[in-house]
Amino acid sequence: MAQKFRKIGVLTSGGDAPGMSAAVRAVTRAANARGVQVMGIIGGYRGMIHDEMIELPNREVSNKIMLSGTFLYSDRCLEFKEEEGMQKAIATLKKHDIDGVIAIGGDGTFRGAPDLTNHGIPSIGLPGTIDNDITATDNTIGFDTAMNTVIELVDKLRDTCESHARCNVVEVMGRGAGWLTLRGGIAGAADVILIPEIPYDIDKVIDKIEERDANGSKFTIIAVAEGAISKEDAKLSKKEYKEKMKNYKYPSVSYEVAAKIQEKTGREVRVTVPGHMQRGGSPCPYDRVFASRLGAEAGKLILKDEYGFMVGYKNREIVKVPLEDVAGKLKMIDPDASIIKEAKLLGICFGD
Ligand code: ADP
Repeated sequence: MAQKFRKIGVLTSGGDAPGMSAAVRAVTRAANARGVQVMGIIGGYRGMIHDEMIELPNREVSNKIMLSGTFLYSDRCLEFKEEEGMQKAIATLKKHDIDGVIAIGGDGTFRGAPDLTNHGIPSIGLPGTIDNDITATDNTIGFDTAMNTVIELVDKLRDTCESHARCNVVEVMGRGAGWLTLRGGIAGAADVILIPEIPYDIDKVIDKIEERDANGSKFTIIAVAEGAISKEDAKLSKKEYKEKMKNYKYPSVSYEVAAKIQEKTGREVRVTVPGHMQRGGSPCPYDRVFASRLGAEAGKLILKDEYGFMVGYKNREIVKVPLEDVAGKLKMIDPDASIIKEAKLLGICFGD
């Protein structure tokens, strides 16, 4: 059978993650090695609509494996969700004779990719997000590097926290999932970890602080996921919660946690929000290798004329999963998972 793919487009979309550039490099090398031409689409789906792309021969991806962020740039493009935007995107791809697209990104990116397939442009997805919230894969490109960043930050906070005998709340990214907070928190030896999957009771957090006090530990590190939620709020309906959030007086959940501890105990609590710093940095060895492996596998699928899949990693194997089984299904932590039980054995408080 004749090889279907002659020229593909590769893009990075949504939240950027360390290792996205390494993934673009790997896809490019794998495709070029099979005689498939590669175009780099600039700024995610936006570049598709506005015809912004560059050719990617092998030499263009030299010295890219170590880059932070994505040299193809990333964007959030609402226009792509509309039929008109999609039609413009398809027209651009046809103009360049691009017969397939490899999209590196998170859940939103994977929601867009099947739409391309439905419009006659086959697509393959690679999971790239620091949130690690993509279903059907144990890992995502960028997660390990971000974890290293979180650990470094928590280690530094501990230094100052200990010197001043204070409580410190650190807010960790992850959108609706707590992966980065859980693993970063365990590795950074946080005393309290609050994640969206386990709604918290502030009094349990205070009990933990007081227990540490009684044992002579004068400081407490509290890792709070940006999506953490209290038990009271978790009981509200979506509508009630939305209504409540209209009058929310804190900049984010970590400030709420800190304020409540301060109100109830009178102790000083500091908040650190490292924010987008967590997305930066050169990809760590794991992410470089991981991105290279997934990119190579995507190249293999192209040769086999297979598309409509996300290439992921499950139980130590590279796997391909239909994109429609991935998009819109965020991977959350199971509150009964063994890692949670083990963390509790170490004395970590989840506020439950
Ligand atoms: P991430 O891929 O990191 O989850 P976003 O949620 O911002 O990031 O999604 C990235 C892009 O994917 C969006 O800006 C948009 O162009 C596209 N996208 C997201 N959701 C959809 C959707 N339901 N249909 C089509 N395209 C979508």
